[in-house]
Amino acid sequence: MPYTGEKASRLGHVGTVRNEAVKAALQRWTITSARPSSRDAIDGLCSPLEDLPLAGNLADIDFSITVDGSDTEVETTREHPTVKVGYLRVAGSMIRLDVFRSLARVRYIDPRDVRRSYTDYAFDVALPGSQLARPGMSGVDTWRAELDAFLQNSRFDSSTTMTLADGLLALHGTRGTPATRIALRVCPNCGLKAKDEATLPVAATGGNCPSCNGQLYLADVLRTHEEYNIEGSNFTPMGRVMTAAERLMSLCYLNFFADTAPEVLRHTIFLTDGPLALFGPLAPLKRRFQEHLGDLTRWCAQRGLVAPLIVGIEKSGAFVEHAEQIRDLIPTGHVMRLTNDYINRISGRPANNHYGVDEFYGRRFIYRTRTGDPLVITVLPTPGLSPYDGVAEVEGWDAYPTLRLICEVLDSLRTRMYQHAVVPVALAHSAAALPLGVGRSVLTMMAQQNIPGLKLDIQAVQPPAYFSKG
Ligand SMILES: [Zn+2]
Repeated sequence: MPYTGEKASRLGHVGTVRNEAVKAALQRWTITSARPSSRDAIDGLCSPLEDLPLAGNLADIDFSITVDGSDTEVETTREHPTVKVGYLRVAGSMIRLDVFRSLARVRYIDPRDVRRSYTDYAFDVALPGSQLARPGMSGVDTWRAELDAFLQNSRFDSSTTMTLADGLLALHGTRGTPATRIALRVCPNCGLKAKDEATLPVAATGGNCPSCNGQLYLADVLRTHEEYNIEGSNFTPMGRVMTAAERLMSLCYLNFFADTAPEVLRHTIFLTDGPLALFGPLAPLKRRFQEHLGDLTRWCAQRGLVAPLIVGIEKSGAFVEHAEQIRDLIPTGHVMRLTNDYINRISGRPANNHYGVDEFYGRRFIYRTRTGDPLVITVLPTPGLSPYDGVAEVEGWDAYPTLRLICEVLDSLRTRMYQHAVVPVALAHSAAALPLGVGRSVLTMMAQQNIPGLKLDIQAVQPPAYFSKG
């Protein structure tokens, strides 16, 4: 095992696979996620897309909004190479799919036409690594305070005043009624365990612990401070912050549209980087996302809208690797269900393991597109269902009414130009990776498309200070 913070393996020079002990061990083990020897295990789990229930209409989907983030740790100075600053960027990008589809039909695409069909908006934040603190504060308290300032100050779009902190309060409320306070379970200062929801409430402005009188922050709801590392890398809690910021940004767009122009939700697909799941200290938020999005789905249904259309797309990980292994066992244009049984088998978990029940607010499928690429996607269940709670209903097709439409949209987004990527994901990823430019607005570009009801009082909003560098 490498020392904490050590980059390369100390045994790297041995040539691991040639090493006798490793070779002998590999004789005893099998790779659980390897391609099955026959297609029997897979055939019964696949369905042609056109056999699935269809809700909504592909021709209605005019926009995609993709949220993606990137994170890194950088050395602060040469003199202190172990002192690291965490830096993360979250970007939202919008594509006008009508323009995009017309481009997909032409042989030579002018990159300027592509550029005109999308816009992106990004915000970034620096968070303290170990050995960095505000004067008079501990490292972990500095982390909490800085994270809270980030949530309070980061607008999810340059044309609004709604921040990620507002998104967090919305997540804990119901449609149109954000929570005004959120109950913490444990005081981060003294470790007091809350007896009930009234013990440790935090509002947007924070709160105080009744036992130690210590400061409580709204950001404490994310519990990332539990993984703050006083010595060594803080890449893990950074990644949690990035995931939380991505999911809150998507949620802000959903709530903004529901509040101002619900019709937009019928016309927009939301793509998320990674599965619709939350891990580690963020996992308790899974239930909030499940309930909040279920509530929004019911609210949309009452208005005759098939929405929200949300899909998580995985770019890497064990399931992406497995999907590549079995790609030719899934016919093109077919979706594969991943039953609990199948997941346990390929991931080497015991047969009675309940996979994903505490983390996932959507269910994972593999879709082999009509161009042949296997996509690992997560989609939302019917409101009221928990996608991995083990009942037969959530392992079937009917529990995922948006699955077919989402796959049809993903098919329509593939072009010769981006052979092995889903276009909105590729563009959002590049937006998240580029140096911060002038902050543009997804909402402004959408408002320019004459969508009924979607109007922004752009004059009322000053650009945030961190974009003034232009
Ligand atoms: Zn306390």
